[in-house]
Amino acid sequence: MAGRLGFGFSSSAPNTMIVTNTPAQDLAFTNFAYCSSADLRKFSTSGSAPGFALVGDSAVLSVRSHGSIQDGQIALNAIQRRHIKVSTGDTVSVSRFVPPDNFKLAVLTLDLDFVKAKGKNEQIDAVLLTQQLRKRFIDQVMTMGQRVSFEYCGTNYIFTVSQAVLEGMEDSTTTERGMVSAETYFVFETSPSSGIKIVNQRETMSSSIFKQKDLNLEKLGIGGLSAEFTDIFRRAFASRVFPPHVTSKLGIKHVKGMLLYGPPGTGKTLMARQIGKLLNGREPKIVNGPEVLSKFVGETEKNVRDLFADAENDQRAKGDQSDLHVIIFDEIDAICKSRGSTRDGTGVHDSIVNQLLTKIDGVESLNNVLLIGMTNRKDLLDEALLRPGRLEVQVEISLPDESGRLQILHIHTKKMSENSFLDKDVNLDELAKMTKNYSGAELEGVVKSAVSFALNRQVSLDDLTKPLDEESIKVTMDDFLNALHE
Ligand code: ADP
Repeated sequence: MAGRLGFGFSSSAPNTMIVTNTPAQDLAFTNFAYCSSADLRKFSTSGSAPGFALVGDSAVLSVRSHGSIQDGQIALNAIQRRHIKVSTGDTVSVSRFVPPDNFKLAVLTLDLDFVKAKGKNEQIDAVLLTQQLRKRFIDQVMTMGQRVSFEYCGTNYIFTVSQAVLEGMEDSTTTERGMVSAETYFVFETSPSSGIKIVNQRETMSSSIFKQKDLNLEKLGIGGLSAEFTDIFRRAFASRVFPPHVTSKLGIKHVKGMLLYGPPGTGKTLMARQIGKLLNGREPKIVNGPEVLSKFVGETEKNVRDLFADAENDQRAKGDQSDLHVIIFDEIDAICKSRGSTRDGTGVHDSIVNQLLTKIDGVESLNNVLLIGMTNRKDLLDEALLRPGRLEVQVEISLPDESGRLQILHIHTKKMSENSFLDKDVNLDELAKMTKNYSGAELEGVVKSAVSFALNRQVSLDDLTKPLDEESIKVTMDDFLNALHE
């Protein structure tokens, strides 16, 4: 059966192999199939790395070689044999399974059960179990509905894969199968009759996936804001990234609105945009307060209403399946100044603030909108906008410290460094020290200005038509120092 993502099986011509038992008792606790090292070449593209095999009609397993398995045999444990409906000695068809590009599992939901219970009311620590399962099942394929046995703290358990989500898939989309990686996030389910109690499920979330995502901040081009990003991620992301039934189990409430505030040029827009992109894979809608604020009262209110129109239409058409709409509101203070604080006496602002508040409150029923407001002047904002249920998560984005500045300088000099345009004498640590109180945008400005100094050296004033000698362009420490003193 093809996965819902639309990828079916991709495999080579089938072969047949003789089913045999797994070589040793402990190997029964993995989901690997085993074959001889000569046969591994049928499944693996590179010598000793695990391969993937389609065994029988529908089972995909990771395959490793084992010295005790003879050529032409495939070793399957009892659970695998039952799943594939074969016995030892049977002949089974096997072929190489070529995994789709993104085969790594982001979330794997497992139904836990005892096989051999030691005692009743066994308590399982989700953090520890997650570590164990990652270690034990790394690189192994998990398929929906599959049952796998394993041992944990001296007790034998069996789990059934009840949900699988691949990395990069939209939230709540499940897949047929995928491979466990060091980052796979496990959600544990148990039936009340199993007597198993799961503790620390929430902690697995904060201790694992968020840290992993942190590492990618530099890739996202965001320097020095890892604590802030994690904070935002933790509070707003989780309710989106995980499927609804997981979030409800974890007791995470959906966050509708956030406010990023702090000095200009510190990366608020940058971060909001990346969060928007990470959440639904496309550029978020960015609007700017002063732009929305048109001269005509009625029109501004209409502008505010229009902002939410797409989300409303989507919700009407697709219900729970509606896409998430991230709306980024830059300079939100232009619109949401405290009511009664403006002196024009027309009440224009008041009515706009009211309109926006009504819309945000309406998001409760919409549930497909995340509004990210940004401002350099939090003090100007109408209090009502900051109450729970509105822009309830507020994160301050301050000027970067020295290590933040270094990260930002690294980000903005990465390209030239990769292309050997950055002279060896450029000392970014030194520059980070020298740029106290510079914002990210100002640091980017310094880099650009240093580049222009370097380019100017290449331009021959005598002959402006002379082509630029790209090879010899070097941005030097002096260029940076000149840029700083500009
Ligand atoms: P804000 O919204 O806080 O006023 P922006 O996000 O618009 O600031 O920043 C403007 C530009 O400055 C960004 O596009 C980016 O190139 C650079 N910049 C600002 N802060 C950072 C940062 N923390 N890391 C990397 N680049 C940054």
